[in-house]
Amino acid sequence: MKKDDLVTIKIEDMSAEGSGIGKVDGYTLFVKDAVIGDVVEAKIMKMKKNYGFARLMQIREASPDRVDPRCPIARQCGGCQIQAMAYEAQLKFKERLIENHLRRIGGFEEIPMEPIVGMEEPYRYRNKAQFPIGQDREGNLIAGFYAGRTHSIISVDDCLLGVEENKEILQEVLDFMKEEGISAYDENTGKGLVRHVLIRYGFFTQEIMVCVVINGKKLPRAQKLVEQLRKIRGMTSITVNINEERTNVILGECVELLWGQRYITDTIGGISYQISPLSFYQVNPRQTEKLYRLALEYAGLTGKETVWDLYCGIGTISLFLAQKAKQVYGVEIVPDAVKDAKNNAKRNGIENAEFYVGKAEEVLPEKYEKEGVKADVIVVDPPRKGCDERLLDTIVKMQPEKVVYVSCDSATLARDLKWLCERGYEVKRVRGVDQFGQTVHVETVALLSKKA
Ligand code: SAH
Repeated sequence: MKKDDLVTIKIEDMSAEGSGIGKVDGYTLFVKDAVIGDVVEAKIMKMKKNYGFARLMQIREASPDRVDPRCPIARQCGGCQIQAMAYEAQLKFKERLIENHLRRIGGFEEIPMEPIVGMEEPYRYRNKAQFPIGQDREGNLIAGFYAGRTHSIISVDDCLLGVEENKEILQEVLDFMKEEGISAYDENTGKGLVRHVLIRYGFFTQEIMVCVVINGKKLPRAQKLVEQLRKIRGMTSITVNINEERTNVILGECVELLWGQRYITDTIGGISYQISPLSFYQVNPRQTEKLYRLALEYAGLTGKETVWDLYCGIGTISLFLAQKAKQVYGVEIVPDAVKDAKNNAKRNGIENAEFYVGKAEEVLPEKYEKEGVKADVIVVDPPRKGCDERLLDTIVKMQPEKVVYVSCDSATLARDLKWLCERGYEVKRVRGVDQFGQTVHVETVALLSKKA
C-alpha cells in the first residue's frame, strides 16, 4: 500500500474526532466523513508507521446509520463532523465515547452510565453565529465559513445549526456593503473593513443582536444599515466591534452602540441573563437548561449546603444552584465574566451567591488554607484541559460530600475522576448531555461521593 492507492475498506469504528476507522491488511486507516457500517472506496493520502489517513471517494455499501447530510456543504465546511450519521446513531457514538474514555483513561470497570440526554431537534439550536465576510474568486462579497482547517471562506447564507434569522441579516449586511462600496477584510493583506458579523438570538425572549466587526474606527453610513436591520422582528441591539489587530481572534475589545441596547436578554431555567457581544454564554440554551437541571439533581441540595462553583463563567450554574443552596461561591478567571455574574445575581434578586476573580487552582487553596472555608458540594466545569492538580488536591483536603463534575471533554474528565477516586471518592452517576448535534462534541456530568 502506498500514497494515492485506492482501497476498499469497511468502517468498524469511529475516532473522537468523528473519522471512520477501518483496517486494510491489518493496517489502520482513518477516513473522514465515513460512518460506522459503511463500506467505502478511499484514497490513501498520508501514511505513518502504524496508521494512515484516506479520503472518502465513493460509498460502496451505505451503513444503516447513514443519512444524506441536510447541509449541501457539510463536507467542505468541517463544522459538522458527523452530519452523515442518523441522530440516534450520533447519540450512541457519544455515549460510547464517554464510556470508552472512562474505561481506558480512567481505568473504571463498573461505570454507572445513565442514558444520554439528546435534543428534540438537532438542527437550528445555536443562539450564536459568527460569519466571516470576504470575497470569492470573482470578487463578489460573500459571508460564510472557513473551509475545514483553512482560512478560505465558503459562501453559506444559511447554516442549519443556526437560526433562520441569520440569513436575512447577512443579506442586509452584504447588500449594504455593495451599495455603499464597503470592502471586506482580507486576512492576507490586512486591508479592507468588514471582518465578521456576529449574531446572537435569545431563544426565550426572541431578541436579536447584530455586531459588525470592523478593521477600522468607523463603519461609514452605518445609519443606513441600521434602518434596514431594525425592520427585522426582534432586533434589539446593533453594534460595531473594533478589531484592528492582524490576528484570527474574532472580536476586539471595543464595542460601539449603533442602535438599541448594548445587550440582549435571555433566560435559562427562570433566571435571566444580560448578554453583551463580548460575554460568554452557552450556545444551546435548551440543552443547557437540561444540563444544569441534571447538575442540580446530582448535587442533591436541600437548602442547607455551602456550594463552590469553580470555572463559573458568568455565573449560570452558580445562580441556578443558589435557588436551592444556602450559599454559593463562584470562581472564574475572566474579570468581565465575574462582573456579569455579579450583575446577573442582582438582576434576579439572588443574594446568596458571591463571586471571586482568579484561577480556581489558586483561589480555592488560598481560601481553604487561610480562611478555612468549607464546602458540602463542589461543582467544577473546566475548559477542555480539565482541572489543575492543585485544585483536585484542595478538593480532597476539603472533603465535600459530593463533587459534581461538568465536562466538555470526557478524556480529561476520565483522568481527573481517576485521580479523585484514588483519594477517597467514588463515581456514583454519569450522564452525557448532547449540546452539539451533528458535531462530535458532548457534555458529560458525573457525580462523585465521599466513600463511606
Ligand atoms: N460554568 C460556566 C462556564 C464554563 S466554561 C457555564 O456553564 O456557562 C469554563 C470557564 O472556565 C470559562 O468561563 C473560562 O474563562 C474559565 N476558566 C478557564 N481557566 C480557568 C481557571 N484556571 N480558573 C478559573 N476559571 C477558569
